[in-house]
Amino acid sequence: MYAYQIFELGKILRAQRLSPARLAKLQAEKLGRLLRHACGHVPYVRRMFDSQGVVPEDIARVEDLSRLPLTDKSFYQSLTPRERGADDIRAERCKTFQTSGTTGLPLRFHMTRRDFTMRNLNSARAYLASGYKPRQRMAVLAGDRQVNEKRSWNERLGLWRRREISSWKDPEQWLDELESWKPHVLVGRVTTLVLLAEAARRRTRSVFAPRRVFASAEVLDDPSRSLLASTFGCPVLDFYFTFEGGCLAWECPACGGYHMNTDMVLIEVIRDGKPVSPGEEGEVVITNLHSYAMPLIRYRQGDSVVLSGKEPRCGRGLPLLDRIYGRKEDLLVLRSGRRIPPQAVPHVFIPVPGVGRWQVVQTAVDRLTIFVEPKEGFDRAARLLLREEMMKLLREDIHLEIIEAESLQRDPSAKFRPIICEVKR
Ligand SMILES: [Zn+2]
Repeated sequence: MYAYQIFELGKILRAQRLSPARLAKLQAEKLGRLLRHACGHVPYVRRMFDSQGVVPEDIARVEDLSRLPLTDKSFYQSLTPRERGADDIRAERCKTFQTSGTTGLPLRFHMTRRDFTMRNLNSARAYLASGYKPRQRMAVLAGDRQVNEKRSWNERLGLWRRREISSWKDPEQWLDELESWKPHVLVGRVTTLVLLAEAARRRTRSVFAPRRVFASAEVLDDPSRSLLASTFGCPVLDFYFTFEGGCLAWECPACGGYHMNTDMVLIEVIRDGKPVSPGEEGEVVITNLHSYAMPLIRYRQGDSVVLSGKEPRCGRGLPLLDRIYGRKEDLLVLRSGRRIPPQAVPHVFIPVPGVGRWQVVQTAVDRLTIFVEPKEGFDRAARLLLREEMMKLLREDIHLEIIEAESLQRDPSAKFRPIICEVKR
């Protein structure tokens, strides 16, 4: 961490405590700067503005963004690197990242070093707010390619020490590494953390005792949260990270919701093209205010959330989300139009004996399949109970099939989706 990074961190730490009006002003300034740059240097953005007959000056406030069309991953994939990249930023001077491609074709992203720094500082602010101390060791269960062996000078001074642990190894090996390095803080995907907790429970004497667990990238449902909390005996906090936007929101214990980092990534929550009111569910659309090499403007993140109507109690001005439902496809949609949030589904499995990993796949409004990795005790009575519990949740006529499968997930580093809804909408 260099002097300018400390300076920038100081700036964003102060920004989170600005009043909502001053935050909106800061956001509008950053948005204007990004749009002027993008319109001047990024071919696809210039085309987008021309086709709508607007110039960057027409978009002075967040509400004016609706004059621009929405974009999504497949749109960016349809563009050539030249069309989506800034012509005044040399790609070879940027950091390049690639999405894992679990949702389809992978997409390459360029990030300037400054934008990459801002992305990391944005996460750092969220960690600090959640009780992380710079002298604590942090372990991250990451994909194999993300393991970084290089140590920066601040780590040698004992600050922001971080190790990535490859989630491609076995959970037993993660636990060995964690027990020998003894990190204070653990970060990982929900599914990976659950696998780790199960491994820790199998050991009679596990010496791994973190002070905080940060769950990210998937919906943190109540059973997973209580499993992690009881296994590791520490607070478990939910972070909303996306590849495209970095840390979008994080759970604030004082406020009982998720603060959105709206000074770094502008977040619109919309439904049928219009912004939703507090308490309503909507789709997340981001404009990454620090995406100068490859501007992401009105990008449909594919997740669904509920805006909170509550005022923050912790002294921060960053607005709150009430709930994060994760990927839009993960909501079950019934014939009546009712939507079942993914957090509700795991409760169905709690009273049923002998259920290992499970997956719920909805192929039509009236067809649902439950895949179960059976363990001892998953007998005929258990199957009947599972059916009964699921029907209690759905409360609608639906064709329900239960299939036993030996293994539902072979690669623990992949984003395992426990709930998949394939219904077209
Ligand atoms: Zn708060």
